[in-house]
This record gives sequence, C-alpha cells and structure tokens, in this order.
Amino acid sequence: MIINEEQKNTVINNPLFTDIKCPVCANSVLILTDRIFEIREFFGGKLELGGNSNVIPVISLVCEQCGYILFFNAVKLGLIKPKQAKKQAPMNQAAADE
Ligand SMILES: [Zn+2]
Repeated sequence: MIINEEQKNTVINNPLFTDIKCPVCANSVLILTDRIFEIREFFGGKLELGGNSNVIPVISLVCEQCGYILFFNAVKLGLIKPKQAKKQAPMNQAAADE
C-alpha cells in the first residue's frame, strides 16, 4: 500500500522522528519508504491467509548509511485504522496494538 501525502505528513510531523538516529551507526539520515508493508506470522514456511493468521502493518525507515531498517506499527502511528488493518487480513487486537 503506497503512503499518501496525508500519511506521509503524519509521519514527518510526529515528534518521535524529530531527532531519530540509526541504532546501529547513529547516522541521522533515515529515509521513509513510500509504502506500508506488513509483517506476517510465520507458519513453518506455508503462507496462511485469513483464519487465525496475524498481520502487523508497518512503515519503514531505512538508514541511508548502513541500510538498517527500522519498523514502526502503522496503526500506532495513526496511518491506518485498526478496522482497515483487519480488512487486509484478520489480526488480533494484541498484534494491532504492538
Ligand atoms: Zn545506520
């Protein structure tokens, strides 16, 4: 899912990201990728859709220097409503809130 301008501004204006640095190399240039990704529950290599599988929608910031990727829960940041996340795939409340 591509991040729209409103979502991008929500991230940029979040005080959490004002002085953020890479936890590996301490570089302060982190690039917001233009998409919302998802972290899926592992089922031994099989792809399970629906049912009891859990999905966490995330945005990613990539360190421009070392490539380390920081993930942030898109629901927690207010980019996606929990209901919207559930439409993509069932997700229990614990996963949505993490
Ligand atoms: Zn880095």
